[in-house]
Amino acid sequence: MHLDELRLRDLLEGLRGGGTLTFAGQRTLLLDATALGLLRAQLIELLGGTAARGILTRFGYAHGWRTAEAMRDALPWDDMREWRRAGGVLHRLQGLVDYRPTKKTDARNKAEARWYRSYEAQQHKLHIGPSEEAVCWTLTGFASGYMSFAFDDDIFCIETRCEGKSDPFCHMIGRRRQDWGTQIEEIERWYDKDSLDNALGVLGERLLAEERRWVARRRDQDVMVDGVGHEVIAQSASMQKAVDLALRIALVDTHAVVTGEPGTGKSCLARMIHEHSARANRPCLIVHGASLPEQMIQTELFGHARGAYDLALRDQGGVFEAAEGGTIVLTEIEGLSLETQALLARTLRESAVRRMGESKQRSFDARVIATMAHDPEEWIREGHLLRELYDVLRGVEIPVAPLRERQDDILPLARLHLARYRTEFELDGPDRIDRRAQRILTNYAWPGNVRELENTIKRAVLLAEGEQIGVVDLNEDLVEHAVGVRKPTGDASDRPIQPLEEVEREHILHVLEAVEGNRSEAARRLEIAPATLYRKLKKYGA
Ligand SMILES: [Zn+2]
Repeated sequence: MHLDELRLRDLLEGLRGGGTLTFAGQRTLLLDATALGLLRAQLIELLGGTAARGILTRFGYAHGWRTAEAMRDALPWDDMREWRRAGGVLHRLQGLVDYRPTKKTDARNKAEARWYRSYEAQQHKLHIGPSEEAVCWTLTGFASGYMSFAFDDDIFCIETRCEGKSDPFCHMIGRRRQDWGTQIEEIERWYDKDSLDNALGVLGERLLAEERRWVARRRDQDVMVDGVGHEVIAQSASMQKAVDLALRIALVDTHAVVTGEPGTGKSCLARMIHEHSARANRPCLIVHGASLPEQMIQTELFGHARGAYDLALRDQGGVFEAAEGGTIVLTEIEGLSLETQALLARTLRESAVRRMGESKQRSFDARVIATMAHDPEEWIREGHLLRELYDVLRGVEIPVAPLRERQDDILPLARLHLARYRTEFELDGPDRIDRRAQRILTNYAWPGNVRELENTIKRAVLLAEGEQIGVVDLNEDLVEHAVGVRKPTGDASDRPIQPLEEVEREHILHVLEAVEGNRSEAARRLEIAPATLYRKLKKYGA
């Protein structure tokens, strides 16, 4: 067998007759050049030029290496030197490039060739445009792989000219590692799996960091909105009502009050109003009123003039000035002193702020959304809240129900926090909550509301050893109390009255658990048709 006699039809089998196509006895594929070009463009876009080049070079290298191996045994070579030189011809036969060997211009060159009409240069120009450097990465990779196998030596090929950078043709040279001198470092990195791993490692880190930033940003905003892309869970009718109201208020530029027990997510709703308002691209500043000493909270809110206090070393504006067309969320305003409340009421009434120790009025543009954990009327009666402040704030009032009054939100919230903490702690741990634990979560009264639920799930994510969060992963106290809620007693009047559907659902789930999830067995024991059971389970979302 001589190199000149090499014909594609002798190497390709299966073109007729169906079945798989083989090339020199190896399964092969006919791939469309443009599809490969698209893959290349997407690799570059996704991974950047360096990593894409490394991947495509190694892909070519593997292709060349395997081709050399297959060719050695596939044909009766008269002279193995012919086989060693066959790589370029095969390139042409496979349609990758038109190949012409050239005289050596340097004694160190093991191979030298011109390439014409490189598919790779063509595709690169088509999808990405002309390049500053050589672009035939799979072709040089192929040549390197083929020759390295054929000569049993490390041979690296590069292009000195390339159609991809608008040279009239590509010019390739191949040398043994030791003949490349100091250039080898630059060349070898495209072949080096470690450097590719590094590039991919860096990329992986980058993606992870990006993901973390994204999660952190969402946490930061602490917003929850379902169906609008954020994180508010509003499966229950009462929460849906609150969200509806919040979204409507978002469109009207008025101050507002959000009321509800501690931990119900009032600040989240306040943030949601901001996010959906015309002020969304302006700052949203949160001031936790009750947590700061009197003087600091006044400075924080209104700013101060130099010398207003011992520590007021310079003039400084407060959040009213800093908000600049945005929103100020004031939490727990009933915890502010009456003096601060009076200043706040005046500021809002006059739409102008006076820095502490200064009489000058500065107008500001900010919407205030205040939150309160107590019943406003009651706190006004008891003298903790100024009526004038409440009146000026209360453009609208949004009540947020405690979690125990919106059971439908419990499991979705639990799942949300489960997913959030798995990501945050980077754990492979539990990704769901088992049925018994679910029942306990829904039956517990949650005095600490959403915040308590969040802490419960956070703890369970850290503790759980299985794939599911189980009862053992929940706080004992919680389990005790939850069970207490529904524990049947001898006296029927002690039992909470549940809707029939709820009782049926619990009973069915209990039976299913007893038979370890075997649905036909459960149907048999319940004496209902399996289809009925399936329908009911579907309805319960179980
Ligand atoms: Zn080229």
